[in-house]
Amino acid sequence: MYNILDFNIDELKTWMKKNNESSFRASQVMDWIYKNNTWKFDNMKNIAKSTRDKLNENFYIGIPELVQVYESKKRDTLKFLYKYRDGNVIETVVMKYDRGNSICVSTQVGCRMGCRFCASTVNGMVRNLTSGEILAQVLAAQKEIDDRISNVVLMGSGEPLDNFENVIKFIEIINSKYSLNIGQRHITLSTCGIVPKIIELADKNLQITLAISLHSPEDEVRLKMMPISNKYSIKSIIDACKYYIDKTDRRVSFEYALVKGVNDSDIFAKKLSNILKGMLCHVNLIPINEVRENDFKKSSKDNIKSFLHILSQSGIETTIRKEMGSDINAACGQLRRSYLESKK
Ligand code: SAH
Repeated sequence: MYNILDFNIDELKTWMKKNNESSFRASQVMDWIYKNNTWKFDNMKNIAKSTRDKLNENFYIGIPELVQVYESKKRDTLKFLYKYRDGNVIETVVMKYDRGNSICVSTQVGCRMGCRFCASTVNGMVRNLTSGEILAQVLAAQKEIDDRISNVVLMGSGEPLDNFENVIKFIEIINSKYSLNIGQRHITLSTCGIVPKIIELADKNLQITLAISLHSPEDEVRLKMMPISNKYSIKSIIDACKYYIDKTDRRVSFEYALVKGVNDSDIFAKKLSNILKGMLCHVNLIPINEVRENDFKKSSKDNIKSFLHILSQSGIETTIRKEMGSDINAACGQLRRSYLESKK
């Protein structure tokens, strides 16, 4: 059995032809799934029974089961815990902004990058999600909120560039007219900085936004937070970003989670601005979400302001990420972790 959400339209057309069906059936099926949220072949009324039987024999429509929903007090953030057919659960977050709904999707079950402040990585990586499984999070969430999702960030659990092929296919499909038609400029991919994959992504020449979880301008300090720093230096990441900008003409976004006494001093802000000066980029400061696996603490408001000020003074566009949904454990991986613990 195949998950039909893993198929792009050309693949489905080929399948139809091989099975003595008109390739036009592929477009009809895609319409039902993506435009009408119809997730049972038997409800696809303009498709003959014999064709539906064939579809039922060979495919399933892999919408995950909704296990839990959390809504923040302000009702602007929803967190969904979804379960796939093999029993694995992942989390998906929807944020409602005035300019539209944004979704944060997971790309792997767990993560193997080992960032010390992140709850997603605590039990390691179980498996990659397929393109269809990532896409299904968007379909399911749209139905749940009964509204269109216009922005996608690949910033949930998992490292997208550690699941490269599936992530690229997900972007290709969600961007297609027959599917959800979400513009590439409305898609952001966030990575801890796997340099060769950043280069490969740049060579694809997409118009998506690349976000880098930088978190420090100093390799030694970054290593205390992110083991991936053993493999790739900050310089090599910045060089890869410059290559990405050259290729795509897109502004790169740097995420910087501020941790008290670790990476939040004025000296760090100055070092960071030296590294980024003149680059087509944007810095997003994130007050770290405290998780119980470590003793990383959030920086003070004054510290965050001062950090912002130094960067802005150097001409680097900087914003502070609005904290949404911290009352519902919306920080990466916390919900899945509590769920797994409750099952023990
Ligand atoms: N693996 C990718 C995407 C998932 S993490 C990456 O590393 O970018 C998404 C973002 O959340 C990253 O910037 C990550 O560093 C950040 N993050 C993870 N745990 C966090 C926490 N406890 N507080 C604040 N940000 C966190």
